[in-house]
Amino acid sequence: MRTPAFIPLATKATVRSLSSAEVAELGYELVLGNTFHLHLAPGEELIEARGGLNRFMGWERPIITDSGGFQVFSLAHGGVADEIKGRRGDISGGARVKISEEGVRFQSLLDGSDRFLSPEESMRIQAALGSDIALTFDECTPFHADRDYTARSTERTHRWLDRCLDWHAESGPPQQALFGIVQGGVHEDLRRESAAYVSEAAVDGVAIGGTLGKEKEEMRGVLGIGEVDDVIAGIGLGIDLFDCAVPTRLARHGVALAPEPEGRFRIDLTKARFADDDAPIVEGCPCEACSRHSRAYLHYLARSNELTGARLLTLHNLTYMERLVAAARNAITAGTYDAYAGAVLDGATPY
Ligand SMILES: [Zn+2]
Repeated sequence: MRTPAFIPLATKATVRSLSSAEVAELGYELVLGNTFHLHLAPGEELIEARGGLNRFMGWERPIITDSGGFQVFSLAHGGVADEIKGRRGDISGGARVKISEEGVRFQSLLDGSDRFLSPEESMRIQAALGSDIALTFDECTPFHADRDYTARSTERTHRWLDRCLDWHAESGPPQQALFGIVQGGVHEDLRRESAAYVSEAAVDGVAIGGTLGKEKEEMRGVLGIGEVDDVIAGIGLGIDLFDCAVPTRLARHGVALAPEPEGRFRIDLTKARFADDDAPIVEGCPCEACSRHSRAYLHYLARSNELTGARLLTLHNLTYMERLVAAARNAITAGTYDAYAGAVLDGATPY
């Protein structure tokens, strides 16, 4: 597939509000499914019996599945929203979650049933889902974990990597690639050690996992993800693939990506000033939201919580990200990436 690329999240076997055919039409070649959520519902057995995740969701291109580590540890440490807001989770693990060398025992949020995820179990589920790329099971340490905890956790993640590789070599689908995950929190030396360990292992690719830093600058120091400027910076650092919930999640909250550096490359269409704005979200954007509708209409839909509004903004935001990385690919080929990155950060449209 072509890289660098942005990967839309199909967490629960759907890119929310879009059909798989629509996601393919936008130009995407890879989506990311979620092992944790699909294990809880509808369950990997049901999906496997229907020919695997591709056939189940009608997506004919590659799928990457995450390991479930991030979600299961979010139960223990507090979720991403908590991290962003700076709230502290319970580092020792709440009553619902028990972390051991063997794996993680937790209660399903859906029905309260006892569940267990381990390196081998995560590999088994991803094999049953039949994804093209599986990820190793890791602990995502939260930013508020101290250095000692993060160091011990990172070492355990490395031991889990080896267990995943063993299981996969023995029992994994032969055509399934396996990516290892670098951890180490916000500590540069731990990150370096982890990067060395994972890249020396017999993996097919290296994922940069881990906590968001408390501040954006700190996050960028650790990993490149998420928003327009993060992706531009990440591509400059040589990262090939970016998976992030931000573009699709923002869309569901009435927020559109736009070439506005002073507004963090987004405009909040729920704001009153767009109520009578006849312009498209972004001039020249080929998406349905921009080619057929005004900001005034999208403002009204977003304020009314209409499904159509979420859908149109999802189409726009995913069109925007795809154009952004497609233009980045062209610029890299032409040897002009630095100029392209500078122009985007100055507010040029990627169309
Ligand atoms: Zn658009």
